[in-house]
Amino acid sequence: MTQWVHLLRDFCDLLSPRYCAICGSRLGTSEQKVCTRCLLTMPYVGDIDFNDNFVTRLFWGKLPVERGYSYMYYNRGDNSHNLLTQLKYVHRLDIGQWAGRMIANDLLPKGFFDGVECIVPVPLHWRRLLKRGYNQSEQLARGVAEVTGLPLLKGHVRRIRNNPTQTHKSAEERYENVKNLFRLRRRIPYRNVLLIDDVLTTGATMASCIKAILEVQPETRISVLTMAKA
Ligand SMILES: [Zn+2]
Repeated sequence: MTQWVHLLRDFCDLLSPRYCAICGSRLGTSEQKVCTRCLLTMPYVGDIDFNDNFVTRLFWGKLPVERGYSYMYYNRGDNSHNLLTQLKYVHRLDIGQWAGRMIANDLLPKGFFDGVECIVPVPLHWRRLLKRGYNQSEQLARGVAEVTGLPLLKGHVRRIRNNPTQTHKSAEERYENVKNLFRLRRRIPYRNVLLIDDVLTTGATMASCIKAILEVQPETRISVLTMAKA
């Protein structure tokens, strides 16, 4: 049976070849979205303590964050940049879901999702959503939900303002700048929530989202997962 599946895939590839989203080279039958060579050169973060790392430390002294993880480092000009560009600006919704599955497959056996009860993607402001046509964080979250079987909650948190310009601002100023970006629209029916976003920079936007939840549901335990850390 598997032989037939492989043959069918080979045949489909012959008729409609698939290409690597990063380097554009033709994908082999066992490769999905990104070729093995590009995957091998991704700047992965690798194994770290989920409770004490560069992600969780961004929130120390500000907000309680249980677990935190970014899957790769974001560096302008390298493969992580190319992948995020595909995800955010080239309408490759499939890249988001594929990356979400890849991340979840890696983190699931390591216990990252232990105790997590639901997934909430960081929402876009409706204007940006309208412009882009999709929320890239939601696509990532879909992939994670697919692998973990966790419920994906949409529409519970709303972004009420778009991000103001953050360039030339210090980390402290950024935190001030993004106050009240989000509002909890509907009560989250779980205590242990995983927030998912594409890129984490200073953590200011994420912090604003966490605050919006904790203001209404202070008993919530929050963990954070992003595809990249800038
Ligand atoms: Zn490639």
